[in-house]
Amino acid sequence: MADEAAFAAQRVFEPYLRDRGFVNGRWIEAQDGRRFEVTDPSSGRAIVSVPRMGAAETRAAIAAAEAALPGWRDSTAGARAKVLKRWAALMMERQEALATLLTTEQGKPMAESRAEIAYAASFLEWFAEEGKRAYGDVIPPHRADNRIVVTKEAIGVCAGITPWNFPCAMVTRKAAPALAAGCTMVLKPAEQTPLSALALCVIAEEAGLPPGVFNVITGDGEDAPLIGKELTSNPVVRKLGFTGSTEIGKLLMAQCAPTMKRISLELGGNAPFIVFDDADLDEAVAGALLCKYRNTGQTCISANRILVQSGIHDAFVERLAAAAGQLKVGNGLDPAVSIGPLIEPAGLAKVERHVANAIDNGARPVLGGKRHELGLTFFQPTVLVGVDPKMAMCCEETFGPVAGITSFATEDEAIAIANDTPYGLASYFYTRDLARSWRVGDKLQAGIIGINTGFISTEIAPFGGIKESGIGREGSRYGLDEFLAIKYRCIGGIA
Ligand code: NAP
Repeated sequence: MADEAAFAAQRVFEPYLRDRGFVNGRWIEAQDGRRFEVTDPSSGRAIVSVPRMGAAETRAAIAAAEAALPGWRDSTAGARAKVLKRWAALMMERQEALATLLTTEQGKPMAESRAEIAYAASFLEWFAEEGKRAYGDVIPPHRADNRIVVTKEAIGVCAGITPWNFPCAMVTRKAAPALAAGCTMVLKPAEQTPLSALALCVIAEEAGLPPGVFNVITGDGEDAPLIGKELTSNPVVRKLGFTGSTEIGKLLMAQCAPTMKRISLELGGNAPFIVFDDADLDEAVAGALLCKYRNTGQTCISANRILVQSGIHDAFVERLAAAAGQLKVGNGLDPAVSIGPLIEPAGLAKVERHVANAIDNGARPVLGGKRHELGLTFFQPTVLVGVDPKMAMCCEETFGPVAGITSFATEDEAIAIANDTPYGLASYFYTRDLARSWRVGDKLQAGIIGINTGFISTEIAPFGGIKESGIGREGSRYGLDEFLAIKYRCIGGIA
């Protein structure tokens, strides 16, 4: 039965399945012919193998992007918009096939994959239009015979490095503003999920994207440092957009320094999710469910520390545990499933370590707490109470379906706990008090604040963090600026 479902899924995504890299409009092998397997985390079965590329292939892709740059950059924003919009429209026409591929290589439930395809397409659609509004400026001059004019231009060849948790959306969140601005790009997807990025290339080609404008290099965990080194040290590359761990972000930032590249880094988070006594309990439980269990807890904006005020604590725990207990775990291709597997055994080991550390130090499971009977990397939806802010699960991203709940007494205490982290990506809180909603929003140290909502991702808003969660923003008009260089002309002699 499981095999039948996998074969049926493969038939759906087969037209978009590619097993080679995409450079200069051509499907290419690694120069030495080496390959690695991409597996379905829900079954452990190999889907296909893709090339193990390194510095040489990356250099060739950068050269292709450099050659394609003048033609693409010097076209109009309107002409580029037509291609990007067609790319988005074709993605939505193929939403089911792309979502099926995404679920197969990443594990998330189909409903989430469909939503990710729509979210990914929304960046292409939105930046296609926003590229037309890369306005400059005319500044009143400092001398009567001068004129000062500011223009914005494409920064040049860009590099993108993306993680496995959003294999489509993290690609277009970088490629869409880059290409809309007139830049070209070389992208390296995560080793676990290169197939969605390659499927995007199939569709880009069909949409009429010229060869060399968008290139994808594949490699496994051993190849990543070699590919990354080339992308960050090659002087042709003028900008790096990276989404991934803070550890690798710091490394890449250092590697970009000698050639002074522009960087945007979307890194790890440790989001607090605060529920005050005056919150709407139903809304808070629904928000926590979404923030904690979506993508099996493997998102950078997952609620990692759930802080609940003492007056509402027991009611919140009871309702959250009841709701989480209803979530069906399994293969995301099954429409009834809402929790898929973790991406890999290392992720499972981390979740187990966090749960064990919490229980050893006095936390108590009110739901789950163990590996799921399905085996592989499946884990039970879990709720723990009595979690202390010093426990491992409050200091590191758990990246699993584990809600750890800490009780607090006062607003000041909640804010102090929330900000006691080197990270600053997302924060959430629930209150019906207007003054508190401004006060707490002002004090929380994060780039994104969700107030009475757990759903904060949209192409129209600036996504990104402060502190060790990164630099720069993706999405919105701020996301376009990341790919534009400012030039000012001082024109003299105007008598
Ligand atoms: P990761 O280990 O940093 O990997 C991310 C990407 O970097 C992958 O493509 C990986 O390639 C590549 N990479 C690894 N080492 C590299 C190196 N030395 N040089 C160049 N590239 C290298 O992160 P992850 O564990 O896969 O992803 C989860 C992390 O991403 C979490 O911390 C999460 O919070 C963060 N994230 C942040 C955002 C955001 O917007 N802030 C969004 C999603 C995820 P390989 O896969 O081939 O190793």
